[in-house]
Amino acid sequence: MQVQYWRDQAACKGIRPSLFYPDNELEEQKAKAICGLCCVRECCLDFALATGEPEGVWGGLNVRQRRRISRSRSGLMGYVHA
Ligand code: SF4
Repeated sequence: MQVQYWRDQAACKGIRPSLFYPDNELEEQKAKAICGLCCVRECCLDFALATGEPEGVWGGLNVRQRRRISRSRSGLMGYVHA
C-alpha cells in the first residue's frame, strides 16, 4: 500500500499530532486507543519499523515496543541465515 494512501485512511487524520508524541502515560494510552480503531495500523507499524521512527506512537506501539519487534526480527534473520 502506498504511503499516501494509507495515511489518507488513518484514524488519527485530523487529530492533534502531538497526542502521538506523548509526554505521559495517559496521552500514550489515548493515542494507542485511537490506533486500536485504525484500519491501516499494520501499514503504519510497517512504515515506522522500516524507517526506524525514533519517537512517538506508530501502529499502536511506542518506540520501546517497536525496538523489541525490530530486535526479534533481526534475531530471526540471523537464525535463518545461520
Ligand atoms: S495506527 Fe495510529 S498512528 Fe498509525 S495511522 Fe493509525 S491511528 Fe495513526
